[in-house]
Amino acid sequence: MGRAFVYVILGGGVAAGYAALEFTKKGVSHGELCIISEETVAPYERPALSKGFLLPEAPARLPAFHTCVGANEERLTPKWYKEHGIELILGTRVKSADVRRKTLLTAAGETISYKFLIIATGARALKLEEFGVSGSDAENVCYLRDLADATRLVDVMQTSTGGNAVVIGGGYIGMEVAASLVINKINVSMVFPEPHCMGRLFTPKIASYYEDFYKSKGVNFVKGTVLSSFVFNPDGKVTGVNLKDGSNLPADLVVVGIGIRPNTSLFEGQLTLEKGGIKVNSRLQTSNTSVYAVGDVASFPVKIFGESRRLEHVDAARKSARHAVTAIMEPDTTPEFDYLPFFYSRVFSFSWQFYGDNVGETVYFGDFSGPSFGAYWVHKGHLIGSFLEGGSKEEYEAIAKVTRLKPAIDDLSELERQGLGFVVAL
Ligand code: FAD
Ligand code: NDP
Repeated sequence: MGRAFVYVILGGGVAAGYAALEFTKKGVSHGELCIISEETVAPYERPALSKGFLLPEAPARLPAFHTCVGANEERLTPKWYKEHGIELILGTRVKSADVRRKTLLTAAGETISYKFLIIATGARALKLEEFGVSGSDAENVCYLRDLADATRLVDVMQTSTGGNAVVIGGGYIGMEVAASLVINKINVSMVFPEPHCMGRLFTPKIASYYEDFYKSKGVNFVKGTVLSSFVFNPDGKVTGVNLKDGSNLPADLVVVGIGIRPNTSLFEGQLTLEKGGIKVNSRLQTSNTSVYAVGDVASFPVKIFGESRRLEHVDAARKSARHAVTAIMEPDTTPEFDYLPFFYSRVFSFSWQFYGDNVGETVYFGDFSGPSFGAYWVHKGHLIGSFLEGGSKEEYEAIAKVTRLKPAIDDLSELERQGLGFVVAL
């Protein structure tokens, strides 16, 4: 049994939704394109799961956040796919791929063939078991990657009001979920190995600004240690966590956000891998010319840094997906993918954006006791990274524009003196 398509998108997440929209803009015909996804719902904006979805009042629910509302574009509901003749093959896991034969085999035993394949399989959450701790399957231990995880987290949260949550990990999931737990009136302890939160992006000074606010909301930071084991009650529910430093914390709910692994396994041994992802060129094309890779799973050349990176952020997923479709549909006129890394987060009433790279010397600006401040990173005499909290639309646009230009910086103290004025003036 089998079906054949001209274009197949493997994975039904953020990148898949933006790729589908781009295919329709480029004039794909009915019946030519399908999306195969293990998830049972049409592509949606994953960032909503750690923000609006977790709110106690008027929470975001589908169909409100189907792609591509996150980029102020059309909302692609299941009806939209039907009207555009795009086959949504949902609740379907692809268990093997053969790039030489151009076929995918689903867990249900169907063979799906393609002329062009876009791999958009994203990533999976790392499990505690991979760090030697068991207990991830307990009813009150939650991860957060997809809608099913978020729905489960909401259920557990609702039975934990007034109780204690332990958040394992001080990265994006840790920070965003901790804020949501506080808003849901749950006491939060955050446990992570680094000296401060968001260790890969924030400097100690930036981190302490947010940590101080979290502390004012009652969050207890337990740094420099990791979980060693759970304490269970006779029903198998977690009631506490034991930490490597010998201390322990009570827990009605545990949320784990300790990073991800890209879903590359179907293609290992068939496509070239790099930096944990599938290596692509500046057309998002893998080592097999009929196969493209986009989003979290792709390691692509970031032109302004002169090296390849694998980025785990929604803007890269959206833009790489669109670019791959353009490269497939308009091969002779598509320029190289020229992407400026962009990360952001929103917690409580804070909102920050970061562009570029965070290496080199840091120059701070603004008022770190007020609502708006930021930092530049200067490397080898050029401004290559910018961070801004509490900016206006115009200010965010300005830091993005100037970071892309990589202006020469001769005098760090002059840059500090000018602060945000430096980018606004350019
Ligand atoms: P995904 O969106 O993860 O989609 C992958 C899809 O592939 C899934 O549908 C999966 O089921 C499917 N799949 C995988 N393997 C198979 C298979 N074998 N067969 C069938 N289907 C398969 N980024 C930001 O920049 N800002 C944010 O605020 C932000 N918030 C986030 C909040 C949460 C809770 C999470 C988890 C991520 C967040 N991100 C954020 C990151 C962003 O969502 C990801 O970078 C983005 O979703 C990547 O898109 P993708 O399409 O590559 O992968
Ligand atoms: P991150 O990589 O952001 O953070 C993981 C955190 O867990 C790090 O602080 C890491 O420390 C720590 N850690 C690693 N191992 C352990 C351990 N054994 N015990 C305790 N802590 C540990 O991943 P997340 O899980 O937070 O996020 C998952 C994905 O979702 C990422 O791709 C992220 O980009 C995405 N996301 C993005 C958002 C955004 O852009 N606003 C919002 C939510 C999710 P160390 O650095 O030392 O390894």
